[in-house]
Amino acid sequence: MGNDGGSIPDRRDLVRTKPKAEQADKANQTRARWFFCALSKRRLQEPVVSCALGKLYNKDALLEYLLDRSAFGDGDTICGHIRSLKDVKTLTLTPNPARDEPERPQFICPLSHKEMNGGQPFVYISACGCVFSQAGLKTLSSTSNTDTLDVCPQCANKFDRLKDVVMINPSTEEEERMRVAMEEKRLAEPVKKSKKRKAKDEAAVDGGEGPKKKKASAPSLNPSIAAASRAVVKSLAQEESKRKAEMSDAVKSLYGDGLPKKKETFMTMGTFTRVSCSR
Ligand SMILES: [Zn+2]
Repeated sequence: MGNDGGSIPDRRDLVRTKPKAEQADKANQTRARWFFCALSKRRLQEPVVSCALGKLYNKDALLEYLLDRSAFGDGDTICGHIRSLKDVKTLTLTPNPARDEPERPQFICPLSHKEMNGGQPFVYISACGCVFSQAGLKTLSSTSNTDTLDVCPQCANKFDRLKDVVMINPSTEEEERMRVAMEEKRLAEPVKKSKKRKAKDEAAVDGGEGPKKKKASAPSLNPSIAAASRAVVKSLAQEESKRKAEMSDAVKSLYGDGLPKKKETFMTMGTFTRVSCSR
């Protein structure tokens, strides 16, 4: 069947329909990004926060994630770069008068009244959190080339138009640029031992087994890798405590608090059972 004439139109159909499917997919992605929380996928509802990469989240979902990083399946992929509430800004959004219609976006630009639906770029000012269409904000920007300080047209706070304007839902390339800028900014932050890192060090001292694996989980700059290491450390710790719990008190008393190797534990347990049964 493969080489008969009939297969040729089929192929043409495939070529024709592929861009259409891609278009529909792109429209869905755009809608998902501008109408819904990137984390919970629920409809955006104030308070809404945004990160250094310009993604939009419902604040309650982000709080849930910060308390339990496994609360959302793909949470670390989406916002593994968010370490605390300090890494996000609560946005001041302007409600869309037509927001009750499900096909219309919830928010608009207070300057141009354009809807925030992904059709045109929107930005937020990281200093105050006010959200505008990029075009709307630009028309009000001061024309001076030397002075980059502007005043927010909504709340009158000062901001630097080169440093403090964050693109919302940027393109992939722009997001990559923003990620690099974020990482560079973090490298410049004063180094101090974080609570998490301290806890990890203590865990490494406490757990007698598998020092090599623990070493591999040393803090990393890549948040998703760090998160994965945390998961490994956690599961190792769980295994260890499970094993300890299964150990009989008698065996524990034989070994004190030391951690015998698995083989020894098993054999000793057997011996002890035999002895106690024969009595
Ligand atoms: Zn403002």
